[in-house]
Amino acid sequence: MTAPIGDSRLVLIVEDNEKNLKLARDLLQYHGFRTIEATDAETGLRMAAESLPDIILMDVELPGMDGVTALQRLREDAVTAAITVVAVTASVMPVDQERFASAGFAGIIVKPIDVKAFPGQVRGYCDSSRAPQ
Ligand code: MN
Repeated sequence: MTAPIGDSRLVLIVEDNEKNLKLARDLLQYHGFRTIEATDAETGLRMAAESLPDIILMDVELPGMDGVTALQRLREDAVTAAITVVAVTASVMPVDQERFASAGFAGIIVKPIDVKAFPGQVRGYCDSSRAPQ
């Protein structure tokens, strides 16, 4: 038996759409990740500081504070500054992709998520976050 893909890594999912949140959570848990969840950025920031997840999957389009602003807040706080944050967005426009990359997201996962590829993508970002900067 090989270890499940997630290998108990802790993922914070920030996503305001209930169906998207459930799909991501179910897939990740099935593949051996641990998950915590927030449906708005403010709650996500608090949970990130409290739980120090291995990775944050950040929906960009959120009510109130958006994901790009939330990323800036995470970077401004020494406690959360080093956490890997991946943008999850339905936008495939090159201008948006460039905006997300320059904002400091480690990468982008495009919605709707590819259910087969998703767990491996998340694990890949977890692993790359452990490499020296
Ligand atoms: Mn959203």
